[in-house]
Amino acid sequence: DQTLTPEHLMHHLQHVYNILRHDAAGSLPDYIPELSQANPAHFALSVTLKSGQTLQVGDCEARFTLQSLSKPFGYALALQTCGQDAVEGVVNTEPSGDGFNSIRLDEGKFRPDNPMVNAGALAISSLLLERHGAHALQQLQNLFQQILGRDLPTDARVFTSENRTAHRNRAIVHLMHNLGMVQQDPEQILRLYLQQCALQVQVQDLSRLAATLALGGKIPGQTLQALPKGVVRQVLSVMFSCGMYNSAGEWACKVGLPAKSGVSGGLMAASPGKLGIAVYSPLLNAYGHSHRGVLACQMLARRLKLHLFQLE
Ligand code: GLU
Repeated sequence: DQTLTPEHLMHHLQHVYNILRHDAAGSLPDYIPELSQANPAHFALSVTLKSGQTLQVGDCEARFTLQSLSKPFGYALALQTCGQDAVEGVVNTEPSGDGFNSIRLDEGKFRPDNPMVNAGALAISSLLLERHGAHALQQLQNLFQQILGRDLPTDARVFTSENRTAHRNRAIVHLMHNLGMVQQDPEQILRLYLQQCALQVQVQDLSRLAATLALGGKIPGQTLQALPKGVVRQVLSVMFSCGMYNSAGEWACKVGLPAKSGVSGGLMAASPGKLGIAVYSPLLNAYGHSHRGVLACQMLARRLKLHLFQLE
């Protein structure tokens, strides 16, 4: 594919970067105090190819926490180690049309709508705790270790800041416990969830993680499978329908790729069979997605003809 050679990709990355470089729209999140300290000027783009080669532009040294970008990986680990049935028992796979912090649960079993919203990710954390106990976080780290070659450091300031102010997530997990939906200790579930949210990456890590999903779990440039293909198919399906919360529909039309955002300003998109894209820019739009991240993905998807339903 001519458009996906490293030279072409670099050209497009640079072009998109130049167009958006001075776009300062959006705002920093303040409900997690530490995240409001991010440098609003930071902007970085990265693409990881099948070969493992990564191309990047901008403030690539900037570090940011995974936040909700960790959710697809927690979900994948649960599918792999707890099994599809156990996972389906605690979380649905329906787009909620609501924001990331929606407290809605279904009427029969009190399951959250999907594993990409906070309530669903908390249900997954409960399952991971039940299965792995005190090793749950390390299991997730093992997955990152396989793909990135190292454990991810924790941003202790972000963890402490979020833990201190997590009133809504605390309410959600306590409510689910009260309803008998989750079995583990609510504070331990919340702790595991906040710990995975506070893992720190750079933009090139994120595009490599996205590329691994894009390649059905195969690590870019290697023959090793980090995750089974069937698990990744499920994860990508849920990212496509639910990854962008209440703007998932618009995203499907304008970008047409499975994706996930994090409130820290990271955004990843997976182009199946081809490559992984990541953007970091901490100013957020009204849905809680990186403002420049969304625009950059729209431009790249159009320029590189990546929309899944774009037929030649
Ligand atoms: N840790 C954040 C929260 O629970 C994640 C939200 C997000 O990244 O969208 O509110």
